[in-house]
Amino acid sequence: MPAGRYAPSPTGTLHLGNLRTAIVAWLAARASGRDFWLRIEDLDRVRSGAEAEQLTDLRAVGLEWDAAPVRQSERSALYEGAVAALRAAHGPDAVYECFCSRKDIAQAGSAPQAGDATDDDAPPAPLRPPGFYPGTCRGLTEAERAERRRERPAALRIDAARVAGLPEGSVPEASARDLLHGEVTGLVDDLVLRRNDGAWAYNLAVVVDDAAQGVDQVVRGDDLLDSAPRQRWLAARIAQAQGRPDAAVEHLHVPLVLNAQGRRLAKRDGAVTLADLAAEDPAWTLEAVRDRLLASLGLPASPLADAVAAFDPAALPREPWVFPGRL
Ligand code: GLU
Repeated sequence: MPAGRYAPSPTGTLHLGNLRTAIVAWLAARASGRDFWLRIEDLDRVRSGAEAEQLTDLRAVGLEWDAAPVRQSERSALYEGAVAALRAAHGPDAVYECFCSRKDIAQAGSAPQAGDATDDDAPPAPLRPPGFYPGTCRGLTEAERAERRRERPAALRIDAARVAGLPEGSVPEASARDLLHGEVTGLVDDLVLRRNDGAWAYNLAVVVDDAAQGVDQVVRGDDLLDSAPRQRWLAARIAQAQGRPDAAVEHLHVPLVLNAQGRRLAKRDGAVTLADLAAEDPAWTLEAVRDRLLASLGLPASPLADAVAAFDPAALPREPWVFPGRL
């Protein structure tokens, strides 16, 4: 059964922006006859009690899901299996140890790279977005790694060119399909698969889980739009390494909610959670808040079945919703 999902990080109470995206995820799944799953992305920055609060608030606005939520913290074996499959398919160095700090990467990124154009007639080097990993630790010898391990624990990165079957150092390109944004294309660098504090990296966990849960519709905030091409690429490479088909995934990156200053909505922007709103003004019942969020999406008010019937992803607003400070 195809499925959609909402995947909150239990870092705090859900605010109006999170709830609005969750409602879109639920509507998109229901309107397309999909199951709907909830996945708790608790690999880092967890605030104790936040998961239970988030589930309560999601139920309070009328969402329900088709199976017990899964937690990423309980799924290490799956992530480990994906790394093992990549190494089995492409050699042990397909996933390599990286000892760079953020600062090292920022400095290396601003220095000329091997392969960069050095004369005016040469074709321009591919654009490297900020934070793009230049491959510093790719190809370290075992002796060099042993020395660096004494100074700093290693992160694990995928050798994207090797896994893509391209010449060393080349940068694969990938695309994702988004119902609002169309085809999105991006470069794939040597992504981190496990961080140097031992936590599995978001990009790995998200694609492994979506595949394992049969998710073929990914709805989330459009701050993650840039991640979609490399996630599709990684999902396809892992599927290939594991000898299973890579299901097509449709994305829907929902424009964010901004505060009156045009910045991404945050808890400090006043009454932005269900509890705060109810405390501020008893008129803000759960149903009234939900209806306000539906109206911001151009959808009819309760019952939710009416919004399901009217839901058309292509007709969603393409601009962020500016929350003026009160509903
Ligand atoms: N856990 C992420 C968040 O709360 C969402 C990741 C995703 O949906 O892929 O922003």
